[in-house]
Amino acid sequence: MDIKPLILIVEDDKPIKKFMKVSLEAQGYRCIETEFGNAAITIILSQNPDIIILDLGLPDIDGLKVIDKVRKSTKAMIIVVSARGRESEKVEALDKGADDYLTKPFSVAELSARVRVALRHFNQDNSPQNNELSVFVVKDLKIDFQKRKVMILDEEIHLTPMEFKLIELMSKYAGRVLTHKYIVNEIWGNYLDNDSQSLRFLWLI
Ligand code: CA
Repeated sequence: MDIKPLILIVEDDKPIKKFMKVSLEAQGYRCIETEFGNAAITIILSQNPDIIILDLGLPDIDGLKVIDKVRKSTKAMIIVVSARGRESEKVEALDKGADDYLTKPFSVAELSARVRVALRHFNQDNSPQNNELSVFVVKDLKIDFQKRKVMILDEEIHLTPMEFKLIELMSKYAGRVLTHKYIVNEIWGNYLDNDSQSLRFLWLI
C-alpha cells in the first residue's frame, strides 16, 4: 500500500495556512495543521511527519525554537517560511537545521516545487542503500553520513545543511567531475535560478 507523505503546516496566518493545505491536499499529500509552535513540537514528536512547513513568526514561541526542540528527534525535511526582507532569520533557521525556505508571498507552483525537492531528499536520506555507506574517509577528511558530521583531523567542522548536502554529493562521486547544472539539480532541484547563484558564490568562498 502506498502511504501518502504527511506534511505538517505550522502557520498562524489563517488564509495562508488554508491556501497551503488546500493546494497540498489537492496534490495528494496528507496534511496536519497548527498555528502554534508548542503544538507543532507535540505533533512532530507524536505523528512523525515527513515534511514540516514552518512559519517563523508564531503567536506562542518562535519558529526557530521549534527547530531547536525537534531537529535531533526528527528526520523530517523542514521548510521555513519567512517574510521578505528577513534574511538573517532565514540564515539562522538554515544553520539550526532547516533544509529549505520559502519567502512570502509564494505561489502554488513554488510551494509544490519545494515540497517535491524536500520529499526527494527525505526519501534519499532514508533509503537503505544510502545507509550502507555510513563513513567516507579521504586523507584528513572524514564524513559520517549517519551522524551528519564532517571532521578534519578529528576536529568537527560546522556545516549548514545545504553545505553538508554538497559535500555528501561530492564524496559520493569522488574523483569524478560534476557539472554545475547537475549539482544544482541534485541539491536544489531544477527550478530556481537564484540558488544556482548561491552555489557559484559558494565556490568563491
Ligand atoms: Ca506568522
